[in-house]
Amino acid sequence: MKLYNTATKKLETFKPISDEIVKIYTCGPTVYSSPHIGNFASYIYWDLLIRTLIANGYKVNRVMNMTDVGHLTSDGDDGEDKLEKGARKENKTVWEVADYYIKEFMDSFHALNLLEPEKICRATDYVNEDMVAVDMMTKNGFTYETTDGIYYDTSKFTNYAKFANLDLENIKAGARVEFSSEKRNPSDFAVWKFIQPGENHAMRWDYLGRPGYPGWHLECSTIINTELGEPIDIHTGGIDHIPVHHTNEIAQTYAISGKPLANYWLHCNFINIDGQRIAKSTGNIYTLADLAEKGFSPLDYKLWVLQGHFQGDRNFTFEGLEAAKNRRLGWKNRIALELQKPQETDGRFHEQILEALNNNLNSAEAFALIDNTAELSLGDWRDIDSLFGLNLIDEVQDIPKEDKKLIAERETARKNKDWGTSDLIRSKLEEKGITVKDTADGPIWQYLK
Ligand code: AMP
Ligand code: ZN
Repeated sequence: MKLYNTATKKLETFKPISDEIVKIYTCGPTVYSSPHIGNFASYIYWDLLIRTLIANGYKVNRVMNMTDVGHLTSDGDDGEDKLEKGARKENKTVWEVADYYIKEFMDSFHALNLLEPEKICRATDYVNEDMVAVDMMTKNGFTYETTDGIYYDTSKFTNYAKFANLDLENIKAGARVEFSSEKRNPSDFAVWKFIQPGENHAMRWDYLGRPGYPGWHLECSTIINTELGEPIDIHTGGIDHIPVHHTNEIAQTYAISGKPLANYWLHCNFINIDGQRIAKSTGNIYTLADLAEKGFSPLDYKLWVLQGHFQGDRNFTFEGLEAAKNRRLGWKNRIALELQKPQETDGRFHEQILEALNNNLNSAEAFALIDNTAELSLGDWRDIDSLFGLNLIDEVQDIPKEDKKLIAERETARKNKDWGTSDLIRSKLEEKGITVKDTADGPIWQYLK
């Protein structure tokens, strides 16, 4: 299996640390508002990664976090905590906001038929471990204290710029103007923030004799250390995480344990609309609920995402989504035909699809193979469903009982040469999106396109 590794900037053959189990960590959502379809694209790509590993015979242990504290509106050390801001806007407590959006996120996760990580961790459940981690970093000489928190001194980690190829000199020059804080270097970041007297921050923990909360990047280092143990095999996230969030995770873990954090780093590119990244700040967002309102299921969107590559620059359009929906319907029709055949045929298509996926998760090529292979057996479709989680067979098998009954009744009417009734039932079915063709082997139903 070959994967593009951001850390080495190369396509590499995947070799797990242990033959038994692959340790994976996925940076999860910040749970202060409804996720948009761009956010979900990333989890769809990582679902394909997990399913491909499983198809290759690996066992997977994946951990994902939920950021419910400490992620500031600037993504850095300034601005307001996104959860606190969300709570004020909705007139709820921060805990209520977190609970609400975690549930919403997981409901969508399931609607997209994404495999659940083995463990999902809330940042606020690891604050004691965060404090121990800050103690360690301080003991090892990597931190300093300012008026508003404990900061990581990035000049102490020689390899700080390596992962993201950062030009620290340039960053320094660019930051001069706004760089008025007590930070020693512009790239330094807070591992712990103090809550100032009068500051409104509901989530607070006592540490070093005053109230505060962990910095955003710390939870991932801490959760990986606690739940998986570094180094892990694969760490995933969006490309926006490369220069700051993941760079800082690596720096923290080095300061805590002296170990590397992960062997393979996978980063997905953005989904755009009219060339602009889908983002809450841009306002060009659609949620899965918006797509449903326009008649698209979450799985139509999943197929649309998988038509491209995780590293590709993707432009979302409704015409594109319509085409993906039709492709899915076409595949379901092929399955419907297989299901109505008198007996199951043998399949051995799995290998070719898996070969495509093993080449850096090339699902587009796998999909072309599906389109171009006329004879796919039900067994092949089962493999396809387990590789992509598109629920194709289940949906075909789950056509409503009353539709199945109508199809049977039409057949009885036809046998009795009651053409009036048979035609009436046919048009009833067509209203429900189902057409019936009479063949030498009897009637065959299909979805209407
Ligand atoms: P957040 O909840 O903002 O931390 O984002 C959750 C995940 O969605 C992160 O891994 C981001 O990199 C990813 N993400 C955000 N916007 C997009 C986008 N337009 N396309 C693809 N992924 C995105
Ligand atoms: Zn993270």
